[in-house]
Amino acid sequence: MDIAVKGIAVLGATGSIGSSALDVIARHPDRFRVNVLSANTQIGALLKLCVQFKPALAIINDGSQLDALALGLRNLGLKTEAAAGPDALCHAATRSDVDIVVAAIVGAAGLRSTLAAAQAGKRLLLANKESIVVAGSLLMQAVRDGGAELIPIDSEHSALFQCLPGPALGRAATPEVRRLILTASGGPFRGWRRDQLEHVTPQQACAHPRWSMGQKISIDSATLMNKGLEVIEAHWLFGAAPQCIEVVVHPQSIVHSLVDYVDGSMLAQLGAPDMRTALAYGLAWPDRMTAGVAPLDLLQLGRMDFEAPDTQSFPCLGLAFAALEQGQSATTVLNAANEMAVSGFLQGQLRFLTIADHIGRMLEQFGSERASSLDELLELDRRVRLEPLPHH
Ligand code: NAD
Ligand code: MG
Repeated sequence: MDIAVKGIAVLGATGSIGSSALDVIARHPDRFRVNVLSANTQIGALLKLCVQFKPALAIINDGSQLDALALGLRNLGLKTEAAAGPDALCHAATRSDVDIVVAAIVGAAGLRSTLAAAQAGKRLLLANKESIVVAGSLLMQAVRDGGAELIPIDSEHSALFQCLPGPALGRAATPEVRRLILTASGGPFRGWRRDQLEHVTPQQACAHPRWSMGQKISIDSATLMNKGLEVIEAHWLFGAAPQCIEVVVHPQSIVHSLVDYVDGSMLAQLGAPDMRTALAYGLAWPDRMTAGVAPLDLLQLGRMDFEAPDTQSFPCLGLAFAALEQGQSATTVLNAANEMAVSGFLQGQLRFLTIADHIGRMLEQFGSERASSLDELLELDRRVRLEPLPHH
């Protein structure tokens, strides 16, 4: 069968997810062509990708680097056009030569381009979980209005998408589903008591035992906020009520998540901890294709363990559940406060345990505000980011 070649935009191409996506795409030149690549500030890495993929358009978020990007492309003899800034990202997500948008920007900075791809009816491979935490109802509405195909690129949500009957989006709201069970690796500090976490460093926190990821999500995994963001993500994607979403720590990160059905069946998706599986699934859906991932060796694995999350040492998970119960404004506050606290921790301005303290304080201060439109949510996000971080 002749498959039409699909045009792809990888937004956040220089990151961990961006590289994994390009690795999978490069294995299937007969099926995909990269037409847009973007990066925040890493112009050298972006140029290198342009040499490899020869996209029609390259975007650098930092406007001051536009001339350098254009010059670099010309010097390399490439026909790739150069653009800069958030508006260029939104425009790129709607281009006619783009069928699939890989939303791999980190943080709420990815929200507008993610929404644009949804409104334009693209296949949206959503890794940028912060956008759904900030504006889940707006994003799901944009997906419906635009007729987009939203496929989650988070190992847990890809697992749930695969274990729910199609159409999977909204499916957990039906009476046949009892619970969604998200697995968590527990991060680098699994089993640590609160007092042991007092002086941990960014380097220790970034050393994830199972996954190699960008810095921000690595810190989120260490605080368990990543799982909190994922609970919110599961709520919006699958329509599950907060009390029907559970988190189980599974240190081997082999079972990526489970659906518990009312008849007593539980369906799980298993695989090596490698994001290329979820990316290949999203790119090929409803088909399957190779991802460069080795098959799982169950005998070598030998055993799998499951335990309850430690909410004393890792209060961020509880804060995320509480914000979800409060509503969209509160999850926007949670996300903005977390982004600021994580960045402060990475820069040595804040201690590890203070991340959760800051988020808790911001939720108390701003959590009951009522923002619903995109502009109101972005304004709330901006105000939370202006609040000072606690002293070291
Ligand atoms: P990363 O830091 O490795 O890469 C982020 C990418 O976004 C880079 O290309 C960077 O240039 C770009 N970027 C950063 N700030 C930007 C801005 N303000 N404007 C435009 N572009 C910007 O991050 P990552 O680990 O690849 O994660 C990306 C997203 O995917 C995050 O939302 C993360 O939570 C999610 N995710 C990641 C993994 C993983 O394994 N890495 C797994 C599941 C979900
Ligand atoms: Mg995940």
